[in-house]
Amino acid sequence: MSAPLIAVCPHCHSPNRLPAGRLADGGTCGKCKGALFAGAPVELGAANFDTHAGRSDIPLLVDFWAPWCGPCRTMAPAFAQAAKQLEPEFRLAKVNTEEEQQLAARFGIRSIPTLALFRNGQEVARQSGAMDTASLVRWVRAQG
Ligand SMILES: [Zn+2]
Repeated sequence: MSAPLIAVCPHCHSPNRLPAGRLADGGTCGKCKGALFAGAPVELGAANFDTHAGRSDIPLLVDFWAPWCGPCRTMAPAFAQAAKQLEPEFRLAKVNTEEEQQLAARFGIRSIPTLALFRNGQEVARQSGAMDTASLVRWVRAQG
């Protein structure tokens, strides 16, 4: 018996408890019945960021970006592709720094795109600059 994990729903942002062995199967949210892992990045803002970063047992990879940033737009498809490969081991999220200036300020985001990896609410790694899917997946896995 492995201990249950908390995974936060990407649709309604409710924490869900699920057996660790069931993580690979994905599963559905107890509240909204949406897929807990949809293979796509979730858009986060000040209202739900801490739930995903702090309440979940799944490490959270955040892409801090902005609509006016060319390299960010270039990286968006690679990031979406990486979500398919990294879920459910990691949760991938995007924070629009133009709309979420408080979050950008809180994490001292100076250049975009910036990728930051969070475990149990703590930032454990950061990387600035656009990456392709393979480099992105490799970088995330290299963080242990
Ligand atoms: Zn839900």
